Amino acid sequence: MKILVPVKRVVDYNVKVRVKSDGTGVETNGVKMSMNPFDEIAVEEAVRLKEKGIATEIVAVSLGIPACAETIRTALAMGADRGILVETDVELQPLAVAKLLAAIAAKEQPGLMILGKQAIDDDMSATGQMLAAFLGWPQGTFASQLTFADGGITVKREVDGGMETVALSLPAVITTDLRLNEPRYASLPNIMKARKKPIETLKPADLGVDPTPRLKVLKVVEPAKRKAGVKVADVAELVMKLRTEAKVI
Ligand code: AMP
Repeated sequence: MKILVPVKRVVDYNVKVRVKSDGTGVETNGVKMSMNPFDEIAVEEAVRLKEKGIATEIVAVSLGIPACAETIRTALAMGADRGILVETDVELQPLAVAKLLAAIAAKEQPGLMILGKQAIDDDMSATGQMLAAFLGWPQGTFASQLTFADGGITVKREVDGGMETVALSLPAVITTDLRLNEPRYASLPNIMKARKKPIETLKPADLGVDPTPRLKVLKVVEPAKRKAGVKVADVAELVMKLRTEAKVI
C-alpha cells in the first residue's frame, strides 16, 4: 500500500511568534521554520507501517514556496521514499491545499493519506476533512491509534470526553492527534541518504487547480497581554479575593 503524507512548513513550535508591524500576518523573515509537529507524527506513523510491512512506499508532499523542499527532505530523512513539491508563491489556504492534494491522490492512487490534525500556524484543522470530501473517501480524524485488519482500518479517535472507534474501508484519509506516536529523530546517515531521494516538482497548473485564496485576512493582532498577578498575605485573604473578585472567564 502506498501512503501519501502531506507535510507543511510552519514557524517552529519553539519560536515566539511575532505579528508583522503592519498587522498583515505573522513575521516569517529570519524565523526558524520546521515541519508542522502533527505532520511529523503522520510521517512517523507511515514509517512504522512500512516497518511492519503494511506500507510499501511513502510519498511526502509539500505545497508552497521552494523552501518547502527542506520540509520534504526532513520527511525523507525520517524514512519517506520520495517527495512531491507543489511549488507556488500564492498564499495557500486549506481549500486550495485540499484540491491540490486530491489531484495528487488521483495521480498517485495511494491506499492511505495521513495528514496532521491541524497546522500550528493557521490552526484551521480543515484540510483533511475537505480532502476526504473531494475524494469521496472515508475519514478517521484526530487519530490516536490505527489497526489494520481484513483489508480495512480501525481508527481510535480522540473526541470530547473520551474515545471513539470507527472502522473505515480503504482508501481513506487519516488525521493525526498528539498521542498517536512519538516521532523519531532522523539519524545522520539517514539525513545523508535523504539527499539522494528524488523530489518531483509540480506547479498548481500541472494539477489543474487554481490556488487563488478565497479568504481575506483583515487584520492580525497580538493576544492581549496578561495583567500582572498579586501576592496575597495569607489563605484568608486568598479566600476573600476568590469570593469577591474572582470571575469566571
Ligand atoms: P490545516 O487544515 O491548515 O490545519 O492543516 C491540516 C493538515 O493539512 C496539516 O497538518 C498538513 O498535513 C496538511 N497541509 C496543510 N497545508 C499544507 C501545505 N501547504 N503543504 C502540505 N501539507 C499541508
